[in-house]
Amino acid sequence: MEHERLKQLEEMEQNYEHAVPEKVTDDIAYYRTLLTNVVMIGAPDQDWVLIDTSLKRYQQRIIHACEERYGNKPPKAIILTHGHFDHSGSARKLAEYWNVPIYVHEKEMDYVTGKESYPPGDPTVGGGIISILSVIFPTQPEHLEKFVQPLPSDGSVPFLEDWHYIETPGHSKGHISFFREKDRVLIAGDAISTEKPESSWSILFPIQHIYGPPAYFTEDWVEAGNSVKKIAELKPSIVIAGHGLPMDGEEMQEELEELADNFIEKAIPKHRKYH
Ligand SMILES: [Zn+2]
Ligand SMILES: [Zn+2]
Repeated sequence: MEHERLKQLEEMEQNYEHAVPEKVTDDIAYYRTLLTNVVMIGAPDQDWVLIDTSLKRYQQRIIHACEERYGNKPPKAIILTHGHFDHSGSARKLAEYWNVPIYVHEKEMDYVTGKESYPPGDPTVGGGIISILSVIFPTQPEHLEKFVQPLPSDGSVPFLEDWHYIETPGHSKGHISFFREKDRVLIAGDAISTEKPESSWSILFPIQHIYGPPAYFTEDWVEAGNSVKKIAELKPSIVIAGHGLPMDGEEMQEELEELADNFIEKAIPKHRKYH
């Protein structure tokens, strides 16, 4: 039954005419694919950058959503929060189409250039279809070597002057989030999520709360907990995570602090393969 539902959702998404961006602020929008958000930074009349690229075969839908906002003006670059298949899947096709560079954190480079594989997903955490599928999800590295380069090591983000990136390892070694001081917007990637990603129901009926990183691929829970502390200390006003709808306001901040203070009880699955 869960397979049926997933198939229905996939079919719905085949029709990319429906792929439209949702505005978060004047110069930030996101497009929610089946599993993962992609984020567009830049006002429609400005230069812009795409953060993350969802699964493989999403390039048409992503291009459509981006063209709705920017016409046929390509982004200056594609930047990935990390290299997992649900964030880097369409990166190569999009980089080819737009002829633009891809950036990742230096520590993520090996995973997107065929040198290193992620550990296999941990099917023992959480329930639902996503955890089951995690066993067959690809952990084979993406081959982005023709396009990809490491981000500058000083935390600056190419083409985005008022943003910097923050190292938020744990979910993966070179995982990063993006932050802008002036309005305290945080693009969290998988450092946290705003829906319970292990539950298949959340794809259709997302309940907006702050949760820990998607458990099935998180490699190091101690590091992941430190990363949540780091982003809670930023006191973001808006959070856009890789999975789930954006959140803002006091309740979100309280939940984020709560998660940071009680990470072991709240985020770490009782049964797990990785420690
Ligand atoms: Zn991930
Ligand atoms: Zn993810």
